[in-house]
Formats: sequence, structure tokens, C-alpha cells
Amino acid sequence: GVNRVPLIAGNWKMHTTYDEAVSLAEAYRERLAQLEGVECALIPPYPWIVPLAEKLEGSTLVLGAQNCATIDQGALTGEVSARMLAPFCRYVIVGHSERRHQLGESDEMVAAKLQAAVRNGLSPILCVGELLAERDQGLAERVVERQLGSALEALEAAHLTRLVIAYEPVWAIGTGRPATPSDAQAIAACIREWIAQRFGSDLAATVRIQYGGSVNAGNAADFLQLPDIDGALVGGASLDVEQFCEIVRVAR
Ligand code: PEP
Repeated sequence: GVNRVPLIAGNWKMHTTYDEAVSLAEAYRERLAQLEGVECALIPPYPWIVPLAEKLEGSTLVLGAQNCATIDQGALTGEVSARMLAPFCRYVIVGHSERRHQLGESDEMVAAKLQAAVRNGLSPILCVGELLAERDQGLAERVVERQLGSALEALEAAHLTRLVIAYEPVWAIGTGRPATPSDAQAIAACIREWIAQRFGSDLAATVRIQYGGSVNAGNAADFLQLPDIDGALVGGASLDVEQFCEIVRVAR
């Protein structure tokens, strides 16, 4: 999109040992030096964030986390808060479909996590997207608008420029079956229009909207050239150095 620096973010999900994470980060640091016209975020599992932050010092690559807690601190065994992540990360994914649909994360929890992220100076990557049955019933736009409405209800306009939205149709994630570019553009335009209605078109024009769902080196260009798509959230292909570097190259 115009004047929006594309963001390519690699969501490593629950993959990599410590050694694998370090070699991936070192490969990306070397291969993706001096990035211009594109931002690139690595989003490893929680325990590798602090060591990778050290490995990436002085590099243009930034780190993200895959999730954060709804609150900043307290009796919540096993959770990790945005406050803990903020010194090491720029981004945090909130509302990934695997958390919504496999771990029972509600719209309310996603909204609280988004607030925790902005409260602590992180940029949330808010994931939205419909199930296959919802798309088949013609409900894709309505589902995405419901997810936006709930997650962004309490968001202040001042935090909008930091917000990234990832449109990830659930049926396209990890399936090797991406959305068509025209479907992705249609929903992205609908997301931007929804934000314009709520916050005004000037602010809506600053929000980056990514596409996610089976993006690889072969199809990335089809999505990245779309007017309302400003990057990609990449799962599987972010663990493959050749694929991910090619996606970043295409985004420039
Ligand atoms: C994701 O995890 O957000 C994702 C889009 O995964 P994949 O690229 O593997 O479909």
C-alpha cells in the first residue's frame, strides 16, 4: 500500500529447539542485512526471545512474541505478560486462530491482550479470519467485523498507527491452500473501511494489513502487490531460510 512499509513476520509457532532457533536467527541476520523498504520480524517461541534479542543486537531484524497475557502481572501460572516482553520485542501476535480455536481464546480475551500490548508499548498483530463453514455461508466479512469490533472497541486512536492487522482465513493456515488474491484484497479493503468508519480515513490509511495463510516464496508476490495488503504473516515458510528470504525480497 501507499506509504506503508510492508511487514513480513515469521511465526515460528511451537517449532525449533534452542540450537535450531539460534541457527535460523543467525542465517536471517546474515541474509537479511540492511533491509530497506520492508520490515522483518522473527516471532520465535517465548524461551528463545531473550537469547535471540542478544544475537540480533545491531541488526535491522526485530522480534515479536506469539501471545501475551491479559494482565501485566499477578497470580496466573504459566502466562507471560506484555510487560515482560516489551524490553525485547516490538511485536506481539494476539488472537491467532490456533489460540482462538484450539485453546478457546475468546474475543474478550483477545481484546484484553490487545490492550495489554499497547499499554506496554508493543505493536499488536491482531489476527482475524473466518472458518471455512463461515466462508461457505457467506459470513466471512461479518465474522471479521465482529472480531475487529470486539478487539478494537477500547482502542484509542493514538495507538492505531502501531496496530497491525493480519487477515488469516482459518482454512488457509497450514493447509497449502491460500486464499485467492482477490478474496484477500476484498477482506483487506473491508477491514480498512471498517477502521475508516470508526477512526477516520486518514488514520485507517496508516494501519498495516497483512495477509496470512500458506504464503510461500512462489505466491508471496500475488498478495504483496495488492493495494490493501501491507505484508504477510508467514508460518511454515518462516522456518525455511530460502523461502522466507525470498518472501522478504519480494516485499521490498
Ligand atoms: C500462521 O501461522 O499465521 C500462518 C499463516 O501459517 P502458514 O503460513 O503455515 O499457513
